[in-house]
Amino acid sequence: MSKPTKTELTKYRALLERQLASLRGDVGSMRDEALRASEQDASVDHLADQGTDNYDQGFMLGLIENEEETIQHIVEAIERIDGKGDWDFGVCPLCQEEAEGIKKKEAGKKDAKKDAGKKVVVKKPAKPVAKIECWIQKARLEYLPWARYCVRHQEAEERNRDIA
Ligand SMILES: [Zn+2]
Repeated sequence: MSKPTKTELTKYRALLERQLASLRGDVGSMRDEALRASEQDASVDHLADQGTDNYDQGFMLGLIENEEETIQHIVEAIERIDGKGDWDFGVCPLCQEEAEGIKKKEAGKKDAKKDAGKKVVVKKPAKPVAKIECWIQKARLEYLPWARYCVRHQEAEERNRDIA
């Protein structure tokens, strides 16, 4: 896995902008429809239909909620491309966290060994820790440019959500 190139970032950005525009349009018209349905409920007396209408409205509001979540993810992905996000575009922050955790553990082990051994006089300045970067698979980004995590972590995240 490698860092997305500038050309790829431009392509993803264009794709995200387009998806954002079409989703925003959808949410607007869906919300209008849901509101219109509720106004009708108040003015017209069709009690027999009310059950279905409430169901439809709930269903539609549910769709809006999902779309708004997707919109949020798209907006954040564009921010990541622009360097204003919480992490670099295309990186899985959970993989990064994991890798950093392992690195820290290894560093801890090394220190313990050093203490147990003979006097180590030469003290080299600590090397700057190379930034660990874990890139999301390109195929996944092509399909879902607003993906926040790699497939493995996305699945883990969704499992957590189901429990909560
Ligand atoms: Zn990951």
